[in-house]
Amino acid sequence: MSGDAGSTLLREVWGFDSFRPGQEEIVRAVAEGRDVLAVMPTGGGKSLCYQLPALLRDGLTVVISPLIALMRDQVRALTAAGVEAGAYTSANTDEENEALREGLREGRIRLLYLAPERLASSGTAAALKRWGATAIAVDEAHCVAQWGHDFRPDYLRIGQLRAELGVPLAAFTATADEETRDEIIERLFGGREPLVFLRGFDRPNIHLGFTLKDSPRKQVIDYAKRRKGRAGIVYCGTRSKTEVLAQALREAGLSAIAYHAGLEPDARRLAEERFQREDGLIVVATVAFGMGVDKPDIRWVMHADLPKSVESYYQEIGRAGRDGLPAEALTLYGPEDIRLRRSQIDEGGAPEARKLADHGRLNALLGIAEAVGCRRVALLGYFDEQAGPCGACDNCDQPADVFDATTPARMVLSAVRRTEEWFGAQHLIDIVMGIETEKVIARSHNQLPTFGVGQEWDRKQWQAIVRQMLGQDLLRPDPSRHGALRLTQLAGPVLRGEQTVTMRRDVLPPKGRGTTRDE
Ligand code: ADP
Ligand code: ZN
Repeated sequence: MSGDAGSTLLREVWGFDSFRPGQEEIVRAVAEGRDVLAVMPTGGGKSLCYQLPALLRDGLTVVISPLIALMRDQVRALTAAGVEAGAYTSANTDEENEALREGLREGRIRLLYLAPERLASSGTAAALKRWGATAIAVDEAHCVAQWGHDFRPDYLRIGQLRAELGVPLAAFTATADEETRDEIIERLFGGREPLVFLRGFDRPNIHLGFTLKDSPRKQVIDYAKRRKGRAGIVYCGTRSKTEVLAQALREAGLSAIAYHAGLEPDARRLAEERFQREDGLIVVATVAFGMGVDKPDIRWVMHADLPKSVESYYQEIGRAGRDGLPAEALTLYGPEDIRLRRSQIDEGGAPEARKLADHGRLNALLGIAEAVGCRRVALLGYFDEQAGPCGACDNCDQPADVFDATTPARMVLSAVRRTEEWFGAQHLIDIVMGIETEKVIARSHNQLPTFGVGQEWDRKQWQAIVRQMLGQDLLRPDPSRHGALRLTQLAGPVLRGEQTVTMRRDVLPPKGRGTTRDE
C-alpha cells in the first residue's frame, strides 16, 4: 500500500496523527489483501485496522460484528467522518434498508456491517457478490470458538461465505489463547494459514532514553557521531530544522539528508531509496518520514524535539530495530518543547474534547519523559500492558535520583494562586526567590507571603522544578494569557497538602551554576 495514503486517511478521516502499536503493520497487510488474524487488547484500536484498509481498497468491505449497538455506533462515527457505511441488521427500518440497498447498488458504500444472523438467509452471499464485496472483516472473531463463552453459531457460516466470495478475510479478537486461535484459523480460514499478529506491544530490543535538551545541535551531532556507520533517523519538529541539522551533521563528517513533506515527490522518493540502499545514512526528518519506510536495520532513532503524544513516540521509535537486533531511541526535551506542543494543541482549532484528549496524550508522554522508574514500564502501562523493569532503558541503567519536592512545588503553586494565574515562570521564580525586580515591586509582589520563601534553590534549579511541574501537569500555560502558568486540577490536592510530589534531582543543575535570569 502507499504509506502516504494510509497516513493521510488516518489524519484526515480519523484525526489521528499516528498509529497505535501494531496498527500500522496490520493495516498494511489487510490493505494488501492478505488473510490476517490479529490479536489486540480491548481498546487497542482494532476497528481502524479494517476500516482504514476498506478505504484503501477497491470495492466493498463486509464487516461481521456480533453486537448491533456497536455496529450502529461505528456506522454513525464513520458517516460523521464522511465515510459511506451502513449496517444490515434486524433493527433496521424498511426505509433504512431501502436507502442502504440503493447505496450498495450504486457502489457508494465502502463498509457494510452485517449481523451474523444475516448469513443464515440464502441470498446473502449472492447479494454481497453483486454489490462488489472484495474483503471480509470479522470483529470479535473468538465468537466462532465453540467452547468459548461468546460462541455465536452463526459465526460458523463465515467460513462458507469467505469460500463463496473468494475474498481475503481479516479476523480480529482480544482473546489470545492458542486453542481459540487454532479454532479461528480452522473455522474462518478453512485451515489456510493467515498472517497472525500476536506480538505484545513491547519492543525489547530498543533501548529507551530521554535526556534534557541543553545544546540540541551538539547533542544530536555527538550522538550521531558515536553511531557513525549505523543507519538512523533524527526526528525534528519543523521542516527548516531538518535542513539545518542535516547540514550540521554533514559538516561534522557524517552522511545525512533532510526529509520533509515540503520536498518535491521526486526528491522524497530519492531520499527514501538512498536510505533503503546506503549503509549508515542518517535521515533528518519530520514525521512525514515513516509509513513508507521499511528498512529493517535502522539502528537508532533520535527525537531532536519532543513528539506530540505517546502514540507518535511509540510509532516513531518503532521504526528502529525491526530486525530484532539491538537498537536505540533517545528523546531530547525541554520546557520549550512542552510549551510548543501545548500551544499547537490549543491553537489547532480542534473541538474542545479533542484538545483535552490531545493534552492527555501529551501529558502521558511527559510522564514517561520525567519518569523516575523504568521507561518501558511507563510506556507499556499507557497501552495497558504490564511489565517488569526492563534493564534496557536509561533509568534501569542508572536509577534516577529522586527527592520529595512537595515543598518547592507548593511554593510555586502558591505563588501562582496568589498572583491570580497571570504570570510566567520567570516572574514566579523571582517571587519565590525573593528578587525585587521592577515588575515585582510594581505589582507589590514583594508583599506576598510567598515572596522569598525559596532561597534554598537557585534560578536554574527553580527552572528545572517548574519544568517538572509542567511535565507532571501541575501547571499549564494559558495561550489566552500569553502563556501565563495556570493551576490544573492536579494542583489542588498538592496545595491542600493531600498529595506529595516526587521529582528527579539529577536533572537539577548543581547549586550556584545559574544566576542569570535568561533561560
Ligand atoms: P477495540 O475495538 O480494539 O477495543 P477501538 O477500535 O474501539 O478498540 O479503539 C479504541 C479507542 O482507541 C477508540 O476510542 C479509538 O478512537 C482510539 N484509537 C484507535 N486508534 C487510534 C490511534 N491511532 N490514535 C489515537 N487513538 C486511537
Ligand atoms: Zn527500564
